[in-house]
Amino acid sequence: MDERTRDRIKCTAVVLAGGSGRRMGGSVAKQYLPLGEKPVIWYPLAACENSRIIDRVILVAERGTAAYVRSQIVEKYGFRRVETVIEGGAERYLSVWEALRLIAQGREEKSGGEEYVFIHDGARPFLTEKLLEDTYRAARKYGACAAGVPVKDTVKEITADGFVSRTLRRRSLWAVQTPQVFEAGLICRAYAGMMEELAAGGCDLEITDDAMVAETWGERPVKLVEASYENIKITTPEDMKTARGLLG
Ligand code: C5P
Repeated sequence: MDERTRDRIKCTAVVLAGGSGRRMGGSVAKQYLPLGEKPVIWYPLAACENSRIIDRVILVAERGTAAYVRSQIVEKYGFRRVETVIEGGAERYLSVWEALRLIAQGREEKSGGEEYVFIHDGARPFLTEKLLEDTYRAARKYGACAAGVPVKDTVKEITADGFVSRTLRRRSLWAVQTPQVFEAGLICRAYAGMMEELAAGGCDLEITDDAMVAETWGERPVKLVEASYENIKITTPEDMKTARGLLG
């Protein structure tokens, strides 16, 4: 990457740790479970801290936990690039929205400038510099991209009572991960458009990722960037076993 170009462009990572992790069972949110010597959230934060691309991190914590996360994660492990710890909302997209509002406000005050936002699930510990580089390259070219992998299994749509209604064409299906990377203005406008529609009661989509917001309210198609099957998200207890195995 051209260092002079890098100097002018700001890259902000929004690391999401605002979920309570209900599907894990247990009382500790999945992003704080121990993986090797460190909590799960340490790994993506360390990837950002050591990255040649990321300039600053906005860490989104669960409501009521910002002070704890600041002292027990950011200060304890010395993550200097974490500029702010904010508290998220009841849904993932509301947590992202809190971070984007902060970014949009900063852009207004400093009148824009080229900036990219890397949105990453704190529950995905295996974020690599290569994936940050690949997604950054795609975001600069296409304005919007998401990491993902081709699905290995056949995927079927089912009815409410568990019968198959349709088999989807596997060749055109990808499982989407994070990071999802966007030109800052584009993703801020897309989220603002969605929030307006939600407030007006005109949206019944289940918003599960950011690419979906860009697909629906953004101005440019979202490019998929091939990532790794190891870039797993900790969701259920067996994912912790897989993560421990991957850590070696
Ligand atoms: O629940 P899910 O697996 O989709 O969560 C993905 C990521 O989003 C996790 O890192 C979780 O901490 C975060 N999240 C959040 N705010 C929520 C729900 C989830 O930041 N309200």
